[in-house]
Amino acid sequence: MSKKIKVGIVGSGTMGNGIAHVFAIYGYSVSIVDISQKILDNAINTIGNNMQRQCNKNIISNDDMKNALNIIETSTELETLTNCSLIIEAVKEDVNIKSGIFKKLDSFCGEKTIFASNTSSISINALSLSLKNPENFIGMHFMNPVPIMKLVEVINGEKTSKETTDSIFSISKSLNKIPVECNDAPGFVSNRILMPMINEAAFCYMDGVAKPSAIDSIMQLGMGHPMGPLKLADLIGIDVCVYIMDVLYKGFKNKKYTVCPLLIDMVKENKLGKKTKEGFYKYEF
Ligand code: NAD
Repeated sequence: MSKKIKVGIVGSGTMGNGIAHVFAIYGYSVSIVDISQKILDNAINTIGNNMQRQCNKNIISNDDMKNALNIIETSTELETLTNCSLIIEAVKEDVNIKSGIFKKLDSFCGEKTIFASNTSSISINALSLSLKNPENFIGMHFMNPVPIMKLVEVINGEKTSKETTDSIFSISKSLNKIPVECNDAPGFVSNRILMPMINEAAFCYMDGVAKPSAIDSIMQLGMGHPMGPLKLADLIGIDVCVYIMDVLYKGFKNKKYTVCPLLIDMVKENKLGKKTKEGFYKYEF
């Protein structure tokens, strides 16, 4: 697939704006769709600020930034993605919302369009049921923050074609990312391993074993992790962590994936992490 393809991104939150940022920097035409123009304007603002930070660090030039920002189009209508060769969905982790979006896109996009989901945990096989051509559907799991993290976890559904996987590998490499392949299973590889660790770290805090900063320091200094699990949970979003633990619990029907009650309480109190300025830590912007 050529580098000139048009890429559509549905959802302009934490992940969607990061994905748009990276595609635009590497010269792809990018079109983002979200539910309101205000949300889209905020996303463009965030992308501009993040690109400016890259400029300040000489990672990209001022011209790269201007060109990339000019390339990105925004809309509240999914129909504007009709001519995209690749559409990546990055909306809320909710199977019904995601399936509804794919069903609608499938009703007007071309037969060759590749559809990808950035889902953290929802079954690729289940989502592919919304599409006429499930062989064109795949998981393209970018990591947060997208402009920085190298990995793209590429998740093949049972019906994903080799051609689709090959295209996603070559597109990921063109973004200077490293794609790694796995098969569809609850939590795939990344979150099946990461989320139980975050959940256990929350239990350590709830049980009074240590403060969040101590838990994070032990894992950073002792295990060589770049960031402690509770700080990472704040970055990912506590609500997202709870949702993924639930997917693991239901998917494997195993009590070892029982979500830590402290995480559930934090969601009730809207302490969702960085995005609400409070999680295990407090944040000021
Ligand atoms: P977010 O809440 O920051 O953003 C979601 C966006 O989707 C919002 O802007 C919302 O307005 C938009 N949206 C909701 N319904 C929509 C619709 N019908 N049409 C168009 N837009 C709609 O969420 P996020 O953290 O960016 O997560 C998005 C996806 O990426 C989820 O599936 C999540 O599991 C996955 N993911 C998240 C992370 C992370 O660290 N946050 C990492 C990897 C993958």
